[in-house]
Amino acid sequence: MIEESTRSDRDYLFEKARKIKESYFGNKIYIRGLIEFTNYCKNDCLYCGIRRSNKNAERYRLSKDEILSCCETGYSLGFRTFVLQGGEDPYFNDERMTDIVSSIKERYGDCALTLSLGERSYESYKALFEAGADRYLLRHETADSEHYAKLHPEEMLLSSRKQALYDLKEIGFQVGTGFMVGSPYQTTESLCKDLEFLYEFKPHMVGIGPFIPHHDTPFKDFDAGSVDLTLLLIGIIRLILPAALIPATTALGTLSSRGRELGVLSGANVVMPNLSPTNVRDKYSLYDNKICTGDEAAECRYCMERRMNSIGSVIAVDRGDSPLLAGSL
Ligand code: SAH
Repeated sequence: MIEESTRSDRDYLFEKARKIKESYFGNKIYIRGLIEFTNYCKNDCLYCGIRRSNKNAERYRLSKDEILSCCETGYSLGFRTFVLQGGEDPYFNDERMTDIVSSIKERYGDCALTLSLGERSYESYKALFEAGADRYLLRHETADSEHYAKLHPEEMLLSSRKQALYDLKEIGFQVGTGFMVGSPYQTTESLCKDLEFLYEFKPHMVGIGPFIPHHDTPFKDFDAGSVDLTLLLIGIIRLILPAALIPATTALGTLSSRGRELGVLSGANVVMPNLSPTNVRDKYSLYDNKICTGDEAAECRYCMERRMNSIGSVIAVDRGDSPLLAGSL
């Protein structure tokens, strides 16, 4: 199925995926306001434009006030989930991070807060959870350890990544993981391992998107991943994890002008418009040609609403927690 599929196989898969999704979520699509708050990173992932070796990256950090003002804008636009994402930036130690988390939760108690800050210790994750963070996104990137070693520097290990994911789950976070589609050296076998790992780990959320080369990385000459394969995998993941929250990612929207709509039609049920201040948007450059870098938060929000309405979906304005939490499943 992954290597060879006909148009009618795919249509059949997507129809099943949509039916399953609708049985849990109706035609609701959840929106998450993404705040890219730092592009400093101590890691050196070979695919990523904000890797520490990229001396051309212009680094920035948002202050606590700037982050809170993104939330304020987001709240007035109807967002009830904020996602703080950044490179692994040691400046945002537990003291600074828990202060930011608790300040957001104090002001916006009816909102969910998602963090995506990379690998940290069990104690650090616990402190962030206790400060009020609800969810955590940490893609495993690839569940094949040999492949993992080709995408990352020596000091990064798939086993540590998995440990971090199990720690997050044990602490009580709603956890998201995922991988890039078409990253250099990926094989069908490694994709099968990704699917097996998803089935075993049972994350609440799964983010996948095509790999897109960045001109200042060692992978600059590799081809981008395939939109069709990404869509196919979204459909398969919906069947494996029927109640998962699956975003139609910005990377998908970057490679295809209707990428996010197609993602939703293949089984995705989350979109993540950008709330970062426009003056830093283009600096959070993980890959080339990222979309929406010039748009104000409000434009992104309403553009997304139009896109979703055009395919018969509606934007939901509640927190959109995982149905697995309600104890009903
Ligand atoms: N530091 C955080 C956030 C990383 S950025 C963390 O480690 O989780 C979020 C995701 O962007 C990564 O997990 C990776 O899967 C994706 N990404 C990075 N570089 C990319 C590229 N060149 N093409 C597509 N996706 C990329």
